Amino acid sequence: MSVVQEIRCSHCGAPIEFKPGEIIATCRYCGFTCVIETGKAFTLEHSIIFNEYDPVQAEELVRNWMRSGFLKPGNLARASKIVEKNLVYLPFWIVPATATSTYKGVFERLVPSVVKEGKIEKNYN
Ligand SMILES: [Zn+2]
Repeated sequence: MSVVQEIRCSHCGAPIEFKPGEIIATCRYCGFTCVIETGKAFTLEHSIIFNEYDPVQAEELVRNWMRSGFLKPGNLARASKIVEKNLVYLPFWIVPATATSTYKGVFERLVPSVVKEGKIEKNYN
């Protein structure tokens, strides 16, 4: 049973195809992405992470990041001035992949040295 029978692109009017479980669909004619509003809970297959911070909170998060951690100048927070703040949504994809590495080398810390070789296979998202 389908809650929503047909959705039309609010940008170009073309019918938008979507699969059960999707809450956001992209128009295959113009690329416009819209939210499918049915009021029903869905399993998220692709989604959007909405901004929860106002500009003041965002600046405080950046300043806290500047004050701690490593691989940045110790005076970064004091020496920098934030002159502009823009909200930007970035698309992201989660892609399951299996990576296989084969290796062979000489382990010289042992006497006599030992040749080691093998294969490492891991799954990543
Ligand atoms: Zn469209």
